[in-house]
Parts: sequence; C-alpha cells; structure tokens
Amino acid sequence: MPVPSALQGKVCLVTGASRGIGRAIAAAAAAQGAKVAINYCSSELQARLFTEELQGKGYHAAAFKADISSERQVDDMFRGIESLWGKIDFLVNNAGISYKALITDSTAAEWDKVMGINLKGPFLCSKRALPNMISARYGRIINITSIWGVNGASCESIYAASKGGLIAFTKSLAREVGPSGVLVNAVAPGPIVTDMLSQELDDEERRELTGQIPLNRLGTPEEIAAVCVFLLSEQASYINGQVITVDGGWLPN
Ligand code: NAP
Repeated sequence: MPVPSALQGKVCLVTGASRGIGRAIAAAAAAQGAKVAINYCSSELQARLFTEELQGKGYHAAAFKADISSERQVDDMFRGIESLWGKIDFLVNNAGISYKALITDSTAAEWDKVMGINLKGPFLCSKRALPNMISARYGRIINITSIWGVNGASCESIYAASKGGLIAFTKSLAREVGPSGVLVNAVAPGPIVTDMLSQELDDEERRELTGQIPLNRLGTPEEIAAVCVFLLSEQASYINGQVITVDGGWLPN
C-alpha cells in the first residue's frame, strides 16, 4: 500500500493525462496520495490501462473523457469527478497540441484549433474549478506552458502565442484568486521526450538540439512531474504567479 504523504486526500485533475507529461504528473500525484482524475480526449485505451495500473498499486484513479476545448464536455467531466470524489483541490492544465508551420502557410482554422486546446481549454477548466476552490479558500492551479511561450520560436508562432497567452493568464489569475487562497503557477518545460517531441523532430534534429542543452540531454516527463508535485505540496505555499522553467539550462529567460 502507498505511504501517506504530501498530497494525501486531495483530488487532482490532470488534463491530457493519457500520455507524456500529463501521465507522469498524474502518476507522481497519485504516488503522493492524491486521488487523480485522468483526462483524455482520444487515447481511451491508454487512459484506461494507465488508470488500471494506478489502481493496481492501491492508488485512487479514474479516467474522464473530455475535449477540453468544449465547454459542455469540460462541465460533464467536472460533474463526473465531483460526483465521485466530492471536490477538486488541484487542477493541472497540461493537455496541449503542437503546431509547426510558416505563418504564411497557416490558416485561421489552425489558429482556432491550437488556441482552442492550449488556451481556451485552461480557461474553461479554471473557470469551472474556481468557484469551489474559492468557497473552500483553498486550491492550486498549474498551467503547463513552454519555453517557446517565453522566448518565441520560428515557425511556431501560433503555438508560442498560445503558450505566451497561458503565461499572462497564469500571472493575471494568480493576482485575481490569490486573495481567495488559490495559488496559480506555470511550468515551462524545454524539450521533453514524449510523443509530441517525436512527432516534431527527426533523429538529426534531435541530436542537434541535445547538443545545445548544457545538460547535454533532453528532459523526461518525470522531471516535469517532480516540479508539479512540489508546487502542489504545502512546501510551495508562498509561490504564486510564477513561471518555473525546466529546460536543463537551454534558453535564457
Ligand atoms: P503529448 O505526448 O502529445 O500528449 C498530449 C496530451 O494532451 C495527451 O494526453 C492528449 O490526449 C491530450 N490532449 C490533446 N488534445 C486534447 C483535448 N482537446 N482535450 C483533452 N486532452 C487533449 O504531449 P506532451 O509532450 O506530454 O505535452 C504535454 C504539455 O506539455 C502540452 O501542453 C505541451 O504543449 C507542453 N510542452 C511539451 C514539451 C515537450 O517537449 N514535450 C515542451 C514544452 C511544453 P489524447 O491522446 O487522449 O487525445
């Protein structure tokens, strides 16, 4: 049986937890005693197997399907979690998609899709989570942004704009709901080994990128999860409105 620890008894929703960084965050939160709601959009089998894996370890976990860009689906997901566990203490807005193209080749529909998932999704989930957090005078929201949202990236202007917007959203919301006891922070990963990165880089590009990183390697989802668990713990009780970069020292802030 898991040892009671930092997040014991808390309910944590992680969006996009079927794979990659979200999966690692959900696993780390569960290992620290949280009840984890595993959101997915299309990877139903992966989400189900992951949920069963956590349950097999004695952890509390349940999977919830929702496209986070849909207000109705977000509301249904929150109702499902609330009816199962009665509350949501932690929201990790992790789900996101990448998009790489020259701006002159990009369409308004692609802009809407990226913004819908990467920026409107965190807005819809935060809006739905906050009333109960504010009533409880307790809650934590973590937004997974990207170093591209801080520094910008050629051929990724739309993705970078969505992530930069998420940083401004984080800082503003932290000011708005901090007085109500809700802390809002962002984590900005550098290149992390997941499906998203594999789709973007071929082997040669990956080698070249690795060579630019002072630690001479790409990051792991577990290294992002460790920062998130810290931000959710009581040890981070005075950290609010911050963007924590986790990129092996690659880019200047
Ligand atoms: P990933 O491996 O591609 O996983 C993306 C996750 O998001 C999946 O669980 C996917 O679920 C979910 N998702 C996508 N669209 C969704 C939607 N409409 N509604 C609900 N869930 C949806 O990506 P990752 O690398 O783990 O990235 C996670 C986050 O970190 C993203 O926000 C990304 O921008 C950010 N990030 C990643 C890196 C990196 O190098 N990997 C660097 C910086 C920032 P389904 O499969 O079920 O659709």
